[in-house]
Amino acid sequence: MKILVINSGSSSLKYQLIDMETESVLAKGLCERIGIANSNFVYKAHGQTVEQQIDMPDHKVAVKLVLDKLTDKDVGVIASMSEIDGVGHRVVASGEAFKKPTLVTPETMRVMEEIKDLAPLHNPAAIVGVKACLSQMPDTPMVLVFDTCFHFTMPDYAYMYAIDYAHYEKYKIRRYGAHGTSHKYVAEEAAKYLGKPIEDLKIITCHLGNGSSISAVKGGKCIDTSMGFTPLAGVPMGTRSGDIDFAAAEYLAKKENMDVSQTLAYLNKKCGMLGVSGVSSDFRDLSAAADGGNDRARLALDMFAYATKKYIGAYAAALDGVDAIVFTAGIGENDDRVRAGVLANMDYLGVKLDADKNSHCPRGVIAEIQAADSAVKILVIPTNEELVIARETVREANLA
Ligand code: AMP
Repeated sequence: MKILVINSGSSSLKYQLIDMETESVLAKGLCERIGIANSNFVYKAHGQTVEQQIDMPDHKVAVKLVLDKLTDKDVGVIASMSEIDGVGHRVVASGEAFKKPTLVTPETMRVMEEIKDLAPLHNPAAIVGVKACLSQMPDTPMVLVFDTCFHFTMPDYAYMYAIDYAHYEKYKIRRYGAHGTSHKYVAEEAAKYLGKPIEDLKIITCHLGNGSSISAVKGGKCIDTSMGFTPLAGVPMGTRSGDIDFAAAEYLAKKENMDVSQTLAYLNKKCGMLGVSGVSSDFRDLSAAADGGNDRARLALDMFAYATKKYIGAYAAALDGVDAIVFTAGIGENDDRVRAGVLANMDYLGVKLDADKNSHCPRGVIAEIQAADSAVKILVIPTNEELVIARETVREANLA
């Protein structure tokens, strides 16, 4: 069985074709600058990469290109489109309208339209992506897989904001979280790796990438997460401020004559590591700059490690203890300095890093990096959000 996973952005479309028997990637790639001059198409299969500058005026054309390549007699991996058994679409926000992965139907697409302003940059793109795929594969089952679903097990006292309850009821303003597929995947992988039933484990999962979020997972269920109504909340990120006093934002907006949308764009795109350091949003650049004596790069890195450490402390309390801490995503998997900074001086919690194992952590595989006498396991686990989307697609569309 083969599942196509689609991740649509407003001007991009990432795709993977996954063979579910082996859970391996047959082909993957990216359509960039859709609807913009100089569109770029990338296709990887058979260990080779094909890159082409092809005009892609809209997502429909992009999807057609993907399908043509997948079935191409020279570089393709399937003989015909009928070999694609289902399509899984990544969707950022669900609101309270969808609490689990959901089959694409006219009715679910109507609800998707209703909730699209919950993630104005992302959800409209997902709708466009679904429509583009439906135009090419009208009879193939498709499933919407939301970043928020894993977090619906949070108790009310964790997801509520202390606002007028009537406004929660009317507008569903609350914590939803993000990166749910990643948190779910690495928590389940951690349990498998440790050889223990997930029901018995308390795990803190740290998805640290360009966007970062931390989750508390008890018995396989999320009980709290650092992102909020949108992915702006939590620790400071590449370009996002993370948690900030709303009054500070309002004060700044008045001083700089920014309206609400401009202020939000500023907090999402000009803050975080980039804003503090003035150097870059990329942790590799920040480390190099800090090593070269740039004190604002040092400050940004220290702020990130400190904020992440505080969430771990908070979630150890929320979980009534912790069995394992998992690091994943671009920074979590690759940046040993960040991991060391986050976990410094946590012996009192039973968390003790092995400095050597941490700095020699192998890439692309699960690795254990705690000291021999650490009560808490510390794991580095490569995330695989596409595989979770493909698995959910199989389950929801009854393809197994
Ligand atoms: P992601 O959003 O998961 O793709 O993560 C992207 C971020 O991971 C980049 O912005 C980098 O800051 C960070 N990253 C990727 N590779 C490395 C590396 N080898 N060392 C340190 N940071 C890295």
